[in-house]
Amino acid sequence: MQAVTETVSPMRPHPFRVREKHEEIPGCITLRVAPDGDGSGAAFAPGQFYMVYVFGRGEVPISVSGSPEKPGELTFTVMAVGAVTRALCACKPGDIIGLRGPFGSAWPVEKVKGRDVIIMAGGLGLAPLRPVIYQLLANRKDYGDLALLYGARQAQSIIFAGELADWREHATLDVKITVDIAGRDWPGRVGVVTDLLTGRHIEPATTSALICGPEMMMRFSAHALLDLGVAAENIYLSMERNMKCAIKMCGRCQYGPYFICDDGPVFSFDRVERLLKTREV
Ligand SMILES: Cc1cc2nc3c(=O)[nH]c(=O)nc-3n(C[C@H](O)[C@H](O)[C@H](O)COP(=O)(O)OP(=O)(O)OC[C@H]3O[C@@H](n4cnc5c(N)ncnc54)[C@H](O)[C@@H]3O)c2cc1C
Repeated sequence: MQAVTETVSPMRPHPFRVREKHEEIPGCITLRVAPDGDGSGAAFAPGQFYMVYVFGRGEVPISVSGSPEKPGELTFTVMAVGAVTRALCACKPGDIIGLRGPFGSAWPVEKVKGRDVIIMAGGLGLAPLRPVIYQLLANRKDYGDLALLYGARQAQSIIFAGELADWREHATLDVKITVDIAGRDWPGRVGVVTDLLTGRHIEPATTSALICGPEMMMRFSAHALLDLGVAAENIYLSMERNMKCAIKMCGRCQYGPYFICDDGPVFSFDRVERLLKTREV
């Protein structure tokens, strides 16, 4: 799907009202918001993000985690890690926040048509992948085998648990979950997400992968797929860097020759493999 671009001033936040708030896990919430006042649109392509403004606190980039098939509303899943995300997590239904966007590149839903797709998520990285999962499932016949390999720190860190169970039950998506640390009541796999590739039958020539999670998890996952013969140009990652303007002006998110806000956040691995070896300062 082609990325959606903003037509009015990209620096002007539009007011959106919080319609619903749901706690995923402690410290992590999902907000459903809808345009308030000026009626600006809420169209986006899976993988894109918005600059989310908590008035009086500041603005942060947050990926859309809801369905692209629901025009007129947007959903974000936010982990409280600092001043702005904590303020976002404290929002209540009825509150107004500001949104600019959507920005950035999208997951390559057209390019992967007819192919098997392996989705690899680590922790909160499942949130930016959820819209593309919805999109692939809504057009299920256009794709080959679909698998979601999800790694979380522990059972209590698993987000979208109800939906994972639904996807697993309906078997349109092969869902495999692993945790780093297991309690006695965890019945599933223990280990890192790349362990879920072990023994898995893959046709490398017809397989594409979409990966989102901590940078180290994405690097290891991409290399595990390369070892299985999947080509670097068929492996896609969603990169995160701190950013301010989101319109390629401030340079805060510059990543080698790229700006994460505009050239990314979704990149094929062949474009960023060398840069992934460099630490952000
Ligand atoms: C394209 C994109 C999409 C994102 N999508 C989501 C999302 O869907 N949900 C979500 O919860 N977060 C997402 N983030 C991360 C989110 O933007 C940061 O957590 C947020 O900017 C932190 O701001 P703060 O004021 O709350 O904390 P700060 O006080 O600014 O930071 C708290 C800590 O987090 C670190 N940090 C801040 N921003 C980032 C970042 N981008 N990457 C890694 N470390 C960072 C800081 O260095 C500091 O250690 C996304 C970031 C990008 C670039």
